[in-house]
Amino acid sequence: MTATEAIAIETRPTPPNLAFENRPSLIGLSREDMAKVLVEKGVPERQAKMRVQQIWHWLYVRGISDFDDMLNVSKDLRALLKAHFTIARPEVVEEQISNDGTRKWLLRFPPRGAGRPVEVETVYIPEEGRGTLCISSQVGCSLTCDFCHTGTQRLVRNLTAEEILSQLLLARDRLGDFPDKETPQGAIVPLDGRKVSNIVMMGMGEPLYNFDNVKAALLIATDGDGLSLSRRRVTLSTSGVVPEIYRTGSEIGVMLAISLHAVRDDLRDELVPINKKYPLKELMEACKAYPGLSNARRITFEYVMLKGVNDSLADARDLVKLLKGVPAKINLIPFNPWPGSKYECSDWETIEAFSDFINQAGYASPIRTPRGRDILAACGQLKSESERMRKTERLAFEAMMIANHGED
Ligand code: SAH
Ligand code: SF4
Repeated sequence: MTATEAIAIETRPTPPNLAFENRPSLIGLSREDMAKVLVEKGVPERQAKMRVQQIWHWLYVRGISDFDDMLNVSKDLRALLKAHFTIARPEVVEEQISNDGTRKWLLRFPPRGAGRPVEVETVYIPEEGRGTLCISSQVGCSLTCDFCHTGTQRLVRNLTAEEILSQLLLARDRLGDFPDKETPQGAIVPLDGRKVSNIVMMGMGEPLYNFDNVKAALLIATDGDGLSLSRRRVTLSTSGVVPEIYRTGSEIGVMLAISLHAVRDDLRDELVPINKKYPLKELMEACKAYPGLSNARRITFEYVMLKGVNDSLADARDLVKLLKGVPAKINLIPFNPWPGSKYECSDWETIEAFSDFINQAGYASPIRTPRGRDILAACGQLKSESERMRKTERLAFEAMMIANHGED
């Protein structure tokens, strides 16, 4: 995209939502926890299960965000719910739409201990036959991967289960992916089926350092009586928090992506420092033990192409060796440079040669071409609306999210 081409940016901000700030949300609670809070506020115990079922349906099948839309719930109960809880969506600070259909929402959540409201971005990437939503799990990140700009920001806080799930609900609202919602005219979405068919936990943060909230949100996203996303269409990306990889397999059961980026411990210690705690051998053991793997259910290994660092054919050969015995896909990610980063992206010929090598070894290794370039280019304009995230931080974060869109 050149600077002279039209850039389609639409802004549909919503006003700050005070209800969202002041009352606890029912979104993100398990059925048991929802029953508990309802009973605490006066719903008769013998009705609790049935009420939860009704509310669950309204929240996650119908996608409502106003208690008054719960038509089969009595006025009295609606009043009680309104007095104590919220089901409101987060504030949308900005929505941007790229010419290629990629959408990006800047969402604002209450401080919840962080001192001031926090902002996160959620990115939607439509492709033929699927629509992938890239979701954040933390504000900032406590890890310090050398090539990642999020890694230079401190961790502000974990997102709650409600906030993680709200990113999906909001996207489905905005794309007309709930029964009573309209798809905006001209929107680029898959022709058939769901507008959001896939989720990738590849936004900001390390999801396995916020395990409980990510688990709660993903269990609701994949619940068959609600949002009903197939577990095979939900991918969690981790830098390699080994104990929680085992837990992800047994407690969540979604697809796994590993930010590998290096095939030797000395280099990986540098690029992905969590490797010092959980070295490659332990990481690969956890991957091999991941439940339900087959040729149709592979682990994705993400590999960022850094010029002169990890991009030689010897690295490609060692990568193939390392992954032997693991049903694997390899995603080659061209490095997205950011101001002050000490790396460069590998040359295109080098990326192609690397890719050819691993393809010959039997791996389908798509090179992820960045999407939504135009809204990426325009992101500096967000600065005046939001001073909380500096332009450079935003650039790197978006580049990272957009380069890593979904899996089948
Ligand atoms: N924290 C998790 C998920 C978020 S990062 C993780 O590390 O897996 C999503 C992906 O983007 C990771 O593979 C990450 O290594 C990669 N990434 C980070 N910075 C990047 C950059 N500047 N260029 C390309 N990919 C990047
Ligand atoms: Fe955190 Fe992932 Fe970036 Fe590493 S690559 S700093 S784990 S967001």
